[in-house]
Amino acid sequence: ENGDSDAKNLRVKLVLLGDSGVGKSCIVLRFVRGQFDPTSKVTVGASFLSQTIALQDSTTVKFEIWDTAGQERYAALAPLYYRGAAVGVIVYDITNPDSFHKAQYWVKELQKHGSPDIVLALVGNKADLQEKREVSVQDGMDYAEKNGMFFIETSAKTADNINQLFEEIAKRLPRPTP
Ligand code: GDP
Ligand code: MG
Repeated sequence: ENGDSDAKNLRVKLVLLGDSGVGKSCIVLRFVRGQFDPTSKVTVGASFLSQTIALQDSTTVKFEIWDTAGQERYAALAPLYYRGAAVGVIVYDITNPDSFHKAQYWVKELQKHGSPDIVLALVGNKADLQEKREVSVQDGMDYAEKNGMFFIETSAKTADNINQLFEEIAKRLPRPTP
């Protein structure tokens, strides 16, 4: 056992991309630590955390999560983070249409420059803020379907659909042949 992926234990690099403030860091903290900290600090550059989940077929998937900063001045660094990523999670805020447009930019970027077999997920976060919604579920779903992506709405605040997001990604990973 050298710590690399084998048929039963996958290790995958996952990169989170999306506008600043959409909740990328909160999604990661909710998934990895089960916490939500409304005063969490802005990510500078990128941060790294990992979390392993077990699937029903007793496969384990270790996600090595690269949480990037959405600020323009870091955009030039993005290729360093998504290079070799098996999974791209592109996040927008359902109360912010600009962030939905920015998500589409990241999808195109990963389609062009990401790994050819990358698994892409589109995530509409802050689903707890229904009364402030400005991006419909249908718009998110339609865009994801057109681009062959998995789509889900989440709330890092309430934990809604956070584990499901990572479980669904895990199910869609290409399996190494034993
Ligand atoms: P990032 O820049 O994409 O990493 O965004 P952060 O994770 O730093 O979150 C930005 C702001 O949105 C913070 O004030 C969070 O408390 C808030 N936030 C993040 N996720 C949610 C959510 O699901 N619901 C609500 N209501 N607020 C959230
Ligand atoms: Mg952040």
